[in-house]
Amino acid sequence: MSNGKKILGDARRKLLIEWLTLSATPLTGTELSKRTNVSRQVIVQDISILKAQKHPIIATAQGYIYNQLSPKTRISRMIACQHSPDQTREELYILVDHGITVSQVIVEHAIYGEITASLMVSTRVEADHFCNKVEQTNSSLLSELTNGVHLHLIEADTNEQIENAIQELRIKGFILED
Ligand SMILES: [Zn+2]
Repeated sequence: MSNGKKILGDARRKLLIEWLTLSATPLTGTELSKRTNVSRQVIVQDISILKAQKHPIIATAQGYIYNQLSPKTRISRMIACQHSPDQTREELYILVDHGITVSQVIVEHAIYGEITASLMVSTRVEADHFCNKVEQTNSSLLSELTNGVHLHLIEADTNEQIENAIQELRIKGFILED
């Protein structure tokens, strides 16, 4: 697609939907901007327009995904956690090792109220990718805003996987308890 020609407006957004729905892996804004010969900022705008049109596009650390999988067949649970920033990798490893997808992290912010970020981390590779990205960009983890307290929305195929993961997190002291 990189023949140097800009693809305009609606045609470009149509392509974005097509690529995102067909791709088995997340696509980064940089990749999408290369394919369409527009700036990354334009892609960010396009994604906002598409989301406003109710397309289920999620921005993750790995890139954009089109969330077409019906999550209804999976079991989800909200868990309250607390840990220091350097324990993030360990926490994510425990969860993905139990076959869990860490869908979201949610924190309470003094000004913005509840902030939700999509993680969509299902493997150690994705956990590493997320942690490395946080380290590289020096961006503080959402949970640093709240003294390490945060919620995770997690998903798994079975209740047992979720219970086992929570059990291990509890032993490691990652679960927020009285
Ligand atoms: Zn966490």
